[in-house]
Amino acid sequence: MVDNLLGAISPHICKGCGAIGLPFCRCCISDVIKRNHPICLYCGAPCLDNNLCKSCCKKHKCFDDLLAVAERSGALKRLVGDYKYNSEVECCRPLADILSNRLQNVSIPQTAVILPVPTIPSHVRSRGFDHTLYLARQLSSRINRPVNNKILIRTDNMAQHMQNASNRRKLIRKSLAISPRLATGSLLPVPATPDHVILLDDIWTTGSTMETAAKLLKGIGVKSVLGLVVLYQPKRVN
Ligand SMILES: [Zn+2]
Ligand SMILES: [Zn+2]
Repeated sequence: MVDNLLGAISPHICKGCGAIGLPFCRCCISDVIKRNHPICLYCGAPCLDNNLCKSCCKKHKCFDDLLAVAERSGALKRLVGDYKYNSEVECCRPLADILSNRLQNVSIPQTAVILPVPTIPSHVRSRGFDHTLYLARQLSSRINRPVNNKILIRTDNMAQHMQNASNRRKLIRKSLAISPRLATGSLLPVPATPDHVILLDDIWTTGSTMETAAKLLKGIGVKSVLGLVVLYQPKRVN
C-alpha cells in the first residue's frame, strides 16, 4: 500500500524502456524472457534449455539442475541492482514474474520448497530488508510452493564482494551452515528436512555460495536441489 501511495506521488520508471508506471513494464519483461540463451553456468557450454551441461552435472553432483534468467547486463542488471542496493522493494514483483516464467516448463515436485540463500545479517540491516527472502515469498505466491528459511543460516558477517574468488570460496565454506536446531536436534520444534529444494539467489558469480548451500542440503538428506538465479556473471573474455 505504501508503495502504491508513493507510486502516485512519484511514479515508477521502467528500468528497461523508461515508460512511466512500473519498475519494469510488461514489454520489457517479455523481452528479457525471449532473449534467454541458455549456457552452462560452470563452463559456458551451450545448453538446451537449462543452465547446467551434462559433464558439469556429473562433476557438481550437489545440483540436480541449474536455471538462470540472463547474464548480468543491461536492464535486468539495473532492475536487480536497484532492488538490492537502492532498496527499491517494488522491483521484487517483476523479478518474481520473470523467475516464475523461467520455471514454466520445468516439472517441480509438489513437495518442493523454495529456500532463499540467507543474506548476510549486516546487509539486511543496512538495506532494511532481506532481498532474497522477499523474492522467495513473491515467487512462492506464483508457483504455489512454500518458502523455508529455517534450514540454512549465515554464520559470519564477511562482505563477499570485497574478496577475490579464491578467498571467497574459502570464506563461504565457513559462512553458511545448517541451522543447529536441525543439525543437532533440540527441544524446540524442528523444521522437517524437505525432499526437494529450489535454492534461490539473485546472482551466480563463482557459484561458491550456491554450491556450498546445495552440498549442505544434500548432506542432511535433501534428495534434489534445483539452483535458481536471476543473473549470472558473464565470463571474462581474455
Ligand atoms: Zn519497459
Ligand atoms: Zn558445463
